Amino acid sequence: MALFLKRRSKMYLLDEHALDCIRKAGRLSSEARELGRSIASEGVKLREVADRMEYHILEHGGRLAFPVNISINETAAHFTPNTSDEMVFHNGDLAKLDVGAQVDGYLGDTAATVEIGTRNWQPLIDASDRALQLAIEMAKEGVSVGSIGGIVERSIKDAGFRPVVNLSGHEMKRYNLHAGLTIPNFNDGTLSKVQGNMLLAIEPFATNGQGQVANGKSGNIYRVLRDRTIKDAEAQKLFEKIKQEFVTLPFCERWCDRIQPESAPLLKTLHRHGLISTYPVLLEVQRGMVSQTEHTVLACNGRTEITTL
Ligand code: MN
Ligand code: MN
Repeated sequence: MALFLKRRSKMYLLDEHALDCIRKAGRLSSEARELGRSIASEGVKLREVADRMEYHILEHGGRLAFPVNISINETAAHFTPNTSDEMVFHNGDLAKLDVGAQVDGYLGDTAATVEIGTRNWQPLIDASDRALQLAIEMAKEGVSVGSIGGIVERSIKDAGFRPVVNLSGHEMKRYNLHAGLTIPNFNDGTLSKVQGNMLLAIEPFATNGQGQVANGKSGNIYRVLRDRTIKDAEAQKLFEKIKQEFVTLPFCERWCDRIQPESAPLLKTLHRHGLISTYPVLLEVQRGMVSQTEHTVLACNGRTEITTL
């Protein structure tokens, strides 16, 4: 599998096809985010919102980069509803909607925080929004990622909150959601610099808690861990489809049900045999409320293009 970022004497090159795909993936991710924002309301099932956001991407010629994450209140990230999930949005929920499309393996990744029915947490939402805006303005070629983290940290602290220091943004490469550079949400002293044609997901998280997350219970977003053959023929059949459909990207039970109905027990088998692993749900350690805002940006010729605007 080729990487789209070819490194040649410290220059990253992108051809027209790659640029087209990056822009389309960004646009579809953004449209799905806004669709989610418009339909997430009291009494609506999380599963319905996740499905509709994902189907928007699929119906418009994109594929999915990862399962739509809908993480509520002190859950910072990595929750997606299962097929049979009856969970609904409640009045007062602070919901992070995080969605990504891929077009021929080229990725977009974006998130917004919405408050369901109330306006108690607008300053917290504004804090991650503002931090992202400042980080994007700064994220040009030659700027160190530590200093981008510094501006995220300062702006969130100025708003009276804390950045979540152990969650970070990331560089993306073809079929690789978390590749290369990490974009911290505080100044961690990293001197690595943004380079031309790098595709970056920048995602400040703000909280009124301690500013750290820890693993909660085992989640329902999966990835392929190792490739081997097991005796259970049905589970093996699903595994072959998973590798073909989702390649190296994260996936979930709802997606497996689309290619093989009632996949839940088969996923358990694959997990037990160590072929797939799960991402734990991430919780703020003091059970603080968490907001997240994320865009994908392309640093190019001295300017920064937001692909998920
Ligand atoms: Mn994301
Ligand atoms: Mn991301």
